Amino acid sequence: MQLAHLEWPFFEERHRALAAGLDAWCSATLSRVHGHDDDVDAACVALVQALGRAGWLQHAIAGADGQAIDTRAICLLRETLARYSGLADFAFAMQGLGSGPISLDGTAAQRERYLPRVARGEALAAFALSEPDAGSDVAAMQCSATLDGDSYVLNGEKTWISNGGIADFYIVFARTGEAPGSRGISAFIVDADTPGLEIAGRIAVIAPHPMASLRFTDCRVPASQVVGIPGQGFKVAMRTLDVFRTSVAAAALGFARRAMHEALKQAKGRRMFGATLAELPLTQAKLADMACTVDSSALLVYRSAWKRDQNQNVTREAAMAKLMATEGAQRVIDSAVQLHGARGVRVGETVESLYREIRALRIYEGASEVQQLIIGRELLK
Ligand SMILES: Cc1cc2nc3c(=O)[nH]c(=O)nc-3n(C[C@H](O)[C@H](O)[C@H](O)COP(=O)(O)OP(=O)(O)OC[C@H]3O[C@@H](n4cnc5c(N)ncnc54)[C@H](O)[C@@H]3O)c2cc1C
Repeated sequence: MQLAHLEWPFFEERHRALAAGLDAWCSATLSRVHGHDDDVDAACVALVQALGRAGWLQHAIAGADGQAIDTRAICLLRETLARYSGLADFAFAMQGLGSGPISLDGTAAQRERYLPRVARGEALAAFALSEPDAGSDVAAMQCSATLDGDSYVLNGEKTWISNGGIADFYIVFARTGEAPGSRGISAFIVDADTPGLEIAGRIAVIAPHPMASLRFTDCRVPASQVVGIPGQGFKVAMRTLDVFRTSVAAAALGFARRAMHEALKQAKGRRMFGATLAELPLTQAKLADMACTVDSSALLVYRSAWKRDQNQNVTREAAMAKLMATEGAQRVIDSAVQLHGARGVRVGETVESLYREIRALRIYEGASEVQQLIIGRELLK
């Protein structure tokens, strides 16, 4: 697949080498379609281990020497993985998102204890923010953490937690009550085997990946497991999302690129009305729309990633990238399905799996409407 965008000035030579190296690894290692009958837990654990062994997960975390997260590397890796396998992209993304607060705000001891194992693929990470009654409205969170001696006692529920049930540790956001609303929340690292933490239920989703609801009942966590400053957990979550929101957009871009590739193949190969599908003007118009969407998404993704790597605030750019790339990818994939006719909806076809894989990206890490609000608010500042 041609990746002309790697020549763009957003990247350094190491990014180009990284993307080319991963592309070769993916094409030798990964297959796309995972169905509802597959053992998705086992597949995900195996993918994390493989990504760790091959060294790719090093890029999902901050370096041991305090080296900052490289947002462009994360985005290129997610874009590439998503072109080959939604589950591989998920496995990589969760190692990054689930350890992101430790990379960005963890103490030296926390970084040393968790990050190397995350990078080797030996410890699976998860990010537990959402609750049954607090999704888009994070500040409505009810899960509580009460200081008792030198530990906090957690009570409450989390839901829609990716890697729930297979994670080795969870970054859990809970209300510590220093101030009302979003200012009274803290972030904790909770090891999966901590007494009082149980998997309340597993959740099956449209594009299978490990997910669960968690229940905390008098779950005691040492104060040394707080990430960042107590009461500032919301900021910890938002800083993490500023990195990974752009990478969700990159994953959407990867899905869209794969759909574009499949669409071109189909259009050139399918014969009808004495010509190929590609020769029909309506097809060319559709392909042109798809290509414009892919390129404009890529520009927004890598502008945001580049700007964050210059230590600049990207709240607006990340929201724009996520909104446009996820909504755009949905349209591109839908067009690719359409060009495939009945084959497009046959279970096991690449475009069919892309159609399922893209949907949730418009909802998680801030639904499209939330991104619109963020952009509007930033414009009016
Ligand atoms: C596949 C998947 C994986 C996930 N993984 C995780 C995870 O690992 N950790 C975690 O903590 N959470 C995770 N989530 C949860 C996700 O973050 C929430 O689903 C998301 O924040 C939306 O919350 P909600 O589902 O409660 O929807 P709600 O908050 O109830 O929103 C419903 C809909 O309302 C609309 N809406 C929202 N806000 C506005 C507004 N201001 N104006 C107008 N319309 C609005 C949007 O269309 C939205 O989709 C995951 C979700 C999915 C689908």
